[in-house]
Parts: sequence; structure tokens; C-alpha cells
Amino acid sequence: MLKALLPRAPLVALALLAPALGALAVACGSNDDQAAEGQVRVVTSLTLFADFVQHVGGDRVEVTALVPGDADPHTYEPAPSQVAKVSKADLVVINGLGLEETLHDLIYNNVRGDVPIVEMTEGLPIIGGDNHTDGEEHEHESGNPHLWLNVQYAMHYVEKIRDGLIEVDPAGADAYRANATAYLEELDALDKEVAATMESIPPERRKLVTFHDAFPYFAERYGLEVVGVVVESPGREPSARELADLIDQIRAQDVPTVFAEPQLNPQLLETVAEDAGVTVKTLLSGTFTSDVRSYVELMRFDAQQLVEGLGLPQ
Ligand SMILES: [Zn+2]
Repeated sequence: MLKALLPRAPLVALALLAPALGALAVACGSNDDQAAEGQVRVVTSLTLFADFVQHVGGDRVEVTALVPGDADPHTYEPAPSQVAKVSKADLVVINGLGLEETLHDLIYNNVRGDVPIVEMTEGLPIIGGDNHTDGEEHEHESGNPHLWLNVQYAMHYVEKIRDGLIEVDPAGADAYRANATAYLEELDALDKEVAATMESIPPERRKLVTFHDAFPYFAERYGLEVVGVVVESPGREPSARELADLIDQIRAQDVPTVFAEPQLNPQLLETVAEDAGVTVKTLLSGTFTSDVRSYVELMRFDAQQLVEGLGLPQ
């Protein structure tokens, strides 16, 4: 009797498990290409913006960033496989001001007609507008796109995300408002923290030379001066004349340190630093690293690098 029963037991167990396994398989399958029941599918450009969306949306949203966390957003070429993400989105969140130029066709050719596209910089004061007339037929909005590096402007981004989520998912309005309020408080404290850190640098040393022109809003908010950049726009190499002028500026203004960015080739900047006799530190303008995986961490990392590079030696 026992002999007959024992071999059977696993079979019985398997039979009982089978429906559960089936259900699990279905759930996994649906997770691959669509959000769980009722989740709002949000598509954004930078991984950094996905961090904003996740803070506001919580578990009501499934967010996808089209640009990997370590890639340069200005030159990133999207993969054809990303079409499905865009065509299933309930909400699209972008920076605007040409930051998403390489993603423009992917987004606008594939997004469903009734899906809102939120431009987070809308309504904010833009630095350096209308600076290129390249003779193209379609108009590009112009101006420096890196507004998120002023934490007060990043708070505006978060408000735009909150309003966009409420528009497409009114049932979640209370949750989105509560999440946004908590995150905005955290960002407000971060803004003050960064400002205090920058104030610890002697005013005459608050001078920025960066790889690309990503820090005018940061400089404006936190009292630094942008002395120069190595490349005016990513993908365009500076001339020997421009590099020589930059080196002259660094020397003339006693700039102590110049700042590289991990997603961009450091060679040019290292040459500049060597010729000018200054040190090189790193700033993150919009990418994450293995150690920096959120917007708050990014701003703290930058503030720390600036204080180490520009502050008086301890
Ligand atoms: Zn940039």
C-alpha cells in the first residue's frame, strides 16, 4: 500500500500545482509586452526622467526610458525594437528643446493619437534660445535643454509629470499628488543642500569649464560662472583656435579644475587640462553610473566633485 502511494505523491503534487504554474506563466507573458492590469505605461527619454516618473507614479505606473542610463542623449540612436514601447504608451514625457532630437521620429511616428506628450521644460525660462538657423524646413525649438540641473526647475518637471499622470489616470490623482508632494519636499531640501555646498567655495573660484554646455542653469541658480566648454554641441569637434582660446581663458581666470563627463570622450579635455596645468574632475549632466542611480544621487555627486575641484584644499 505504502509502496504504491509514495511514487504517486509527486504526481498528485504536480497536478495540484499545474493550474498555479499556468497562471504564473500567463502573468509573466503579459509583463513582457504590457503593463500589469491597470498600470499606466509611461515612456520617457532619459533614465533620469524615469526616476522622476517612478517617484510620482509609484506602483501605478510602468515606466520605460528610451535612452540607457549611461548613454549620451544627444547622439543616442534608438533601436527598432523600441517602437513597441512607444506604440503602447499611455503617456509620453520628454524634456523638449531638442534634447530628444534622435528620438523625435521614433516617438512622433509611433505614439497613439490620443496620448499626451508632456514637455517638462514648457513654461520655464530658457537660456540661449534661437541660436541655430540651419535652413531646415521644420522648426526646432532652440535653447539650452539642460534645465533639470537647477533643482528648482527639476521640481517643475515633477509637477508636469504629476499633472500628466492625473490627466491619463484621474483615479490615481490622490496618489500622484501625495507622491509628488513628498518628492518635491525632498527636492526642495536637495536644492538648499546644493546651494549651501556651492557657498562653501570661495566666490572667485566658482568657475566652470565643462566638456559640453550642460551647466548654465546650474551655474545661474548656484552662483557659478561658466568660463567655457570644450565642445559647443556634442558631435562637433572644436578647432585648434577654439581650444587655444579656452586654455587662455582657464589661465587668465585662474580656473583650478576642469570637468569631464563619463559619456563623452575625455581625451580632448585631458589635453586642455594638461596644457593649462589644471586638474580634471567629473560631472554628470544626465547619465547614471554604477554608483549614481538617481537624480538626488547625481546632484549630490556633482556638488561633491565641484567642491573637491574648486574649493580650497582642506
Ligand atoms: Zn547635454
